[in-house]
Formats: sequence, structure tokens, C-alpha cells
Amino acid sequence: MAPKHGLNSLQPPEDTHKRAKTSSNPASRSATPAEQIGAMAMVPFVVHYPNISTKKKLSKKDQDLVDNAEFQVSPFVAKGRAKEGELDQHYTVTPSAEWNAMKKYNNFIIQGDTYKNNHFVYVRSDETPKEVDEDNVKGFWVARILQVRAQNAQHVYALVAWMYWADELPPPRVRAPDQVSALGGKRTYHGKHELIASNYMEVLDVLSFAGKAEVLEWREEDDNIQSKLYWRQTFCRETQELSKIREHCICNGHFNPEVSMFICDNPSCKIWLHEACLINDILKKTYTKLVGTEPEINGIAKANGKTGKLSKSKPFDGKFSAKIKDQGAGPPTILIKDLRSGQKSREWEESIPCPKCDTILH
Ligand SMILES: [Zn+2]
Ligand SMILES: [Zn+2]
Repeated sequence: MAPKHGLNSLQPPEDTHKRAKTSSNPASRSATPAEQIGAMAMVPFVVHYPNISTKKKLSKKDQDLVDNAEFQVSPFVAKGRAKEGELDQHYTVTPSAEWNAMKKYNNFIIQGDTYKNNHFVYVRSDETPKEVDEDNVKGFWVARILQVRAQNAQHVYALVAWMYWADELPPPRVRAPDQVSALGGKRTYHGKHELIASNYMEVLDVLSFAGKAEVLEWREEDDNIQSKLYWRQTFCRETQELSKIREHCICNGHFNPEVSMFICDNPSCKIWLHEACLINDILKKTYTKLVGTEPEINGIAKANGKTGKLSKSKPFDGKFSAKIKDQGAGPPTILIKDLRSGQKSREWEESIPCPKCDTILH
């Protein structure tokens, strides 16, 4: 039984094929020991999340899940959590008798590495590379060990909480402005080395582990996080929501540690600004100055039978363009191009005012 990685059921249909292949992949080492332990092997351990406070009359099966439920306090407490204990939950592992009969251990050793509760591990998935190295980490899944149980030295299981790569997140119910694509939940602020902590749990055979992972919690108090795996955000199984992270810029957006931002040096402002937001702000002002406040594109849009609402937010599109010149030495400047027909293509350079306090960036 290969690890399921929890979000399976939420993946868009096109992903199903890939996952299906995973679960029947004989190369997955987690399949091996389960097949060797006879009757029990036919029934891999499954994690359920019973609703223990329901007043409804339950079937015998559901009542069993409630009766065997345990409470898991999540090791992930996100700074921007919606509420205290958001990721804590009741869960039941089935078959319960077999799970409960196993002894709990504080640690186990694979190939000389000691693994303990709360350690992060790489887990093999389909087409997993042989060894974890810097360039292939995304070929692995990452999980955090919550509990270790064993039948004997050959059959050691870990209850884990999954971490997700941003590409694996399901799309939010309501389209987010910073979604990278409509099909997935990845946001523009998610960095290459970023993992999202979750309370999706699974029982894994520890032989599916490919080594210990170093994953830092980034509290967004410094920006030197680029090269290591980190998490700053959680994804809640019950609400399907990401926790909030620090807001920056006039757009109230977030910081992708791989994309540099501009900072306003005015001590009473100190706002961090996205390059694209600075450009937008300046082009809007340029448009107002040279064309006027009534965006003429609006008239065209109306004539076409559209509302013109979208065009209105960027009336400068196709009329002016700009790029920021930031060579390191000296203050950044912006190069603005006038693209209007009838005008000779004209370009000029300006200093960049902070869109919030108007102080020139330097
Ligand atoms: Zn912004
Ligand atoms: Zn400012």
C-alpha cells in the first residue's frame, strides 16, 4: 500500500491517473512489509476523522470509529491561524484492534538514522528518485512523524501529518487574486522551497521513508529563508483554508522570498512593495497626467457591449509600459514608454515615489 498523501480526493481529475499509478506502484517500498504479514496485510491502516460530537444515531461501523477515536494536537501552530487549535482533531486508525495492539515507541532506526516524533521525513512517492538531493526534493513527499508503533522489528509504522508542496494544493472555493492558475491552489507568493503544513494524517510503513528532512518554520521575521525547506502556512483539512500570512504592499499581498521587493525608506512608512504594484501605480498616474481621469478605453469597451470594468483598472494597457531599473548603486528609477499611436514612441526616466506616502524610493 503506497502512501496516499491525503489530498487525493481533492485533486482535479487530470491528476487521478498519476495518483492511481502511485497506489498500485509495486516499487513503493511501503508495500513490501504489508504484503508479508498475512491477513492483516490485506487491510492496510487507514485514518478516519469521525465526528464525535454528532447527536445522530450511528451505524455500528461509525460508532466503532467514535469509540476508538483519539485526539491529536497538531504540531503546527501557524501565526495566522483562524482560531486556536484549528488543526487539532479526533481521528481513528482502522483496523483499530490491530493498531491498538501495537506498542508505541519513541524512536526507530533505519540505516543508522534515528527517527523520532516530530521529525520531518522524506517519503517515497511514484517515480521517486533513488536518493534525496538538492535538485530532486520535489520527487518526494514530506511528512512529520506524530507517533510510532510496531508489531516487531520488521513491522514499524508511523502516524504522520502530511506537508504539501504548493503545486499540490487544491484550488480554493473562491478564486484568489494571487492564484497561479485556476486549476490549483498554488499562490504567487509560494516559494520553490515552501511546504504547507496540514492535518491530513496517514499511517505509513517506515520503510517508505527516504531520509530525514530539515524543514524550518518561517515566522516571516527575516527574509533569509530561500535555500532551505520551510513552512509558514497551514492547510486545514476541515475548512480547506490556508492560514493567513504576513501582508505587505498597497495590494495587501504577500512576500515570495525568491522575488525581491522594494522598501520605502520613510521611517514612518517602511512598506514593502511588489515591483508589479509599483509599476501599476506609476502607469496609472502617468495615464491620469497625460490622458486624463476618464479612461477613454471605457468608451470602447462599452461600445463592444462589455462592462469595461476590467479595462478600467488598467486603462494604461497598450498605451504606456514601464520597467524598473535597479542596478543596486543609487536609487531605483522607472523607464516609462509612451506607446500611443500618433505619438512618436517616446520614453523617459522618473524617480519612484512610494505609492503610500509619496517619499521617493532610494
Ligand atoms: Zn503588491
Ligand atoms: Zn512610503
